Amino acid sequence: MSSAVETRTFIEFKDLEKSFTTRGGTVTAIESLSLSVQEGEFLAVVGPSGCGKSTLLMALAGLTTPTSGEVVVGGERVDGPMTQAGVVFQSAELLSWRTALENVLLQAEVRKLDLPENRPRAQQLLEDVGLRGFENHYPDELSGGMQQRVALCRALLHDPSMILMDEPLGALDAITRDQVQGDLQNLWMKSRCTVLLITHSIEEAVFLADRVIVLSPRPATIAADITIDLPRPRHVADRGTPEFTNLVNEIRHEFSRLGVFEQDE
Ligand code: ADP
Repeated sequence: MSSAVETRTFIEFKDLEKSFTTRGGTVTAIESLSLSVQEGEFLAVVGPSGCGKSTLLMALAGLTTPTSGEVVVGGERVDGPMTQAGVVFQSAELLSWRTALENVLLQAEVRKLDLPENRPRAQQLLEDVGLRGFENHYPDELSGGMQQRVALCRALLHDPSMILMDEPLGALDAITRDQVQGDLQNLWMKSRCTVLLITHSIEEAVFLADRVIVLSPRPATIAADITIDLPRPRHVADRGTPEFTNLVNEIRHEFSRLGVFEQDE
């Protein structure tokens, strides 16, 4: 089936290098990194802490300028903030004085989109992540998992072609994290936008992604590029299957090979 599907490169990192000059000297976060991401692909990036994962995402978002090389999105070189992208960080960053629905609609307001037109879509997104009935709740009336679901809905409201996520579920407890991973998968299966997800969790990467990139310790280069050919939708119970476990072990093996004996998952 997959051989019949035509794919198109959407994101390209071309020989990317990023160094920071600090009072203590020069830190090279990323070196000679080249990577293509197909349109509609869900790519997860894992690697040891401090290896350059966030820097990679910031370069893609146009929030940091490469020292050399370039990032190309949709055929165009990134040379400023990628305002079209949807972005989700570890902290939900909701406005405390706005309800869940109003927080989602903030995306439309900032983009000066038609509010009445976007309201049903915002409501549908909240319903898709199980927040029907919570539209008019304020952030401090929502659990951490609910807040992060609202942040996901806000990131998707304008139907972005690309979603960038930096440890979006990192602050959640294990059970909530599993639940929100399921919601994230469902939202993505509906939108099929291109995703770059940074995560510390190998299980999360295997559960969600089409492909997992393992980065080396700093300076980040690509140590492994692993296709996750598991059928979708994936379920929590699938984590116990030999196919799932083998993929997790394959990535763990890469970490061992790189000399990363401990990682914070
Ligand atoms: P990760 O996301 O993998 O934990 P980062 O991309 O945040 O790693 O950081 C990679 C390296 O680059 C680290 O050594 C970090 O200290 C350094 N770094 C990141 N941003 C800056 C900055 N703005 N100024 C100086 N050094 C930075």
